[in-house]
Formats: sequence, structure tokens, C-alpha cells
Amino acid sequence: MKLDILAVAVHPDDVELGCAGTLLMEKRHGKKIGVVDLTRGELGTRGTVELRAQEAARSAVILGLDARENLGMADGFFRNDEEHQRLLIRAIRKYRPEIVLANSLEDRHPDHGRAGHLISDACFLSGLRKIETADDAGRPQEQWRPKYVFHYIQDRYAAPSFVYDISPVFDKKLASIRAYSSQFFSADYGENEPQTYISSPEFLNAVIGRHQMFGKMIGVPYAEGFITEKMIGVQDFEAFVQMDT
Ligand SMILES: [Zn+2]
Repeated sequence: MKLDILAVAVHPDDVELGCAGTLLMEKRHGKKIGVVDLTRGELGTRGTVELRAQEAARSAVILGLDARENLGMADGFFRNDEEHQRLLIRAIRKYRPEIVLANSLEDRHPDHGRAGHLISDACFLSGLRKIETADDAGRPQEQWRPKYVFHYIQDRYAAPSFVYDISPVFDKKLASIRAYSSQFFSADYGENEPQTYISSPEFLNAVIGRHQMFGKMIGVPYAEGFITEKMIGVQDFEAFVQMDT
């Protein structure tokens, strides 16, 4: 199935925290959206692999995803090498997205930065005809290079290249985060589980504050921030003048 926007993330829940609002907005604009999770988040302190898979499926319904797939790489130990690049190239060629949303290039969790570089490299390499890959049925795949890779800003603050107004869908984004009840603060989960950096009520408050801060930059209640490695080119100022900032 061809998608317009593909969000790729190393851990199930990275997409919800980083770019779920943008996916929801693009869906509203009639685009096909999907998520590829690289790992099952099996090293997460709280919850289990089975529980996290259920949470990801629940969130996929909230976000209205057209596809969600897990590549089963090893949480914490995957590498940006040929084996992992080829796995991801297969997924990119399968979904053929124009835009890829990817992990941050540098963050508190080292998996995020490594994944951010892996995703950028795989998107470039996927456009090279002489790298041969096959689909699930063993048929050769055509090369495909997404036009842009945008890195969503995660835990560590970084100045965004642009911000995306997600105010109309912010409540839904929060609901998609709350679908991960084993990971984030929830009054009815986790009495016997250890607390972590992300399981406190303060963490969710900080997430909300970050989106308000990005929103303030363009005069809207909530926004998500992205960094682009490739310069964005325009042939028309229309998109700029449509918004009061
Ligand atoms: Zn993560």
C-alpha cells in the first residue's frame, strides 16, 4: 500500500510523543499515513512486549493509521549498518512515502540518535537502483527515495527548522500517548512497577509545555517541531501567507 507520510520510530510511543499531531492533521487533509516501529521496546523498564504491542495497536486506532508495522530490531542493540539499513529500505520501498518523519538525530536516549541517522541513511540508499531488495513475496522492489526526511524533536530541546500547528487535534494526540498506560502516568496502572523518567505526571506536563512553546512561536496553542537536514525550497509564497503567526 502506498502511503503519503510514513513516521518511523525506534520505540513504540516515540511517534505518539514526537509527531502524532502532524500525522492526525495530514490524515485530515486526506493523506495516507502509517508508522514503522523499528523495535518492540523490549528493554522498557515497565510493562511487557505483549502489553506494548497492544498499546501500539490501540494508539493506531486513535490515530486512524492506514498501516503500522514492527520490524523487530533489537531494542538498545540495533546498529546503523547494512543489515538494518536493508530491513528499513524494504519497508520504505513497500510504502513509498513522499515524506518520512524520523527520530531526533541527537537525544537523551542514545537509541533515538542512532535511529535518526539509520532512517536518514536508509531513505537515501532506498533511492539507489543497484541496491536490490525483495518484498514479502520475493518479488524485486523498485527504488524509492522520499522527498524529505523531517526529524521530530523528542526529549532534548533543539531549535526547530519549522513547526506544525496541531491545535485542532491536540486532545487526540494526548489520547494516543495515554494509550501507552504502562509507560506514562496513569492513576490506575503501575502501583507495583518501578517509576521511571517518563512515568511521572511531571513528564506529561513537560510534553504539553513543549507543544505550547512551539505553538507560541507561531501564535497558536500547540505545535510540533521538526528539523530538516535538506533545505526546503519553495516556488510559491501562498503557504506562508495563509497563516497568521
Ligand atoms: Zn524512545
